[in-house]
Amino acid sequence: MLTDTPPRDKNRSGFLESDRIKTLDLPQNEHLPTIAKLIESAMQTGKPANVLRPCEEFLKQAAEFYGTPECSIRVLAARPLRVRETWTTELFGDYNPETMLIRLWMRTAIRKEVTSFGTFLSTLCHEFCHHLDFQLFKFPDSWHTRGFYERTAALYHHARGTPRKTLIWAPLRDGRWRIDWPRTNRGA
Ligand SMILES: [Zn+2]
Repeated sequence: MLTDTPPRDKNRSGFLESDRIKTLDLPQNEHLPTIAKLIESAMQTGKPANVLRPCEEFLKQAAEFYGTPECSIRVLAARPLRVRETWTTELFGDYNPETMLIRLWMRTAIRKEVTSFGTFLSTLCHEFCHHLDFQLFKFPDSWHTRGFYERTAALYHHARGTPRKTLIWAPLRDGRWRIDWPRTNRGA
């Protein structure tokens, strides 16, 4: 995982704020983990229509908790050929801030690899965090900052019921950051 390059224009302060916010309030109940398990079993049928319903429920619960407008979702069998150019960093989904629509797909376009449940859930949380950036934090844009990835990880581990790891970041020369996975996984 790699952060975006910090913008040099008027958006810079929003970017830095996004970078700083490393936590996310989480529901103190089991609603999202319960729904996540439904997504997992629905995925085993391989049918997008079955996966759609629990995803909608997940987003509805999440939007209710964070007090944001609900976003809609489409679950597709394969990655569409046309993907918004600025949102191509995700292999398995995208989010359109104008229509508040999340799209997730269960297979890649080229090699038709099936996504694992963990990747699918993580993409769902990632796209929902883009929604939160606009609708909760009111950022003018939704950047992939260190804070963004931390917030996404918090939501993902809550939903999956797994312990959160401390992410160890390594700086690149151009101002971007990447997660140092070996050190992160060692718990250094
Ligand atoms: Zn993204």
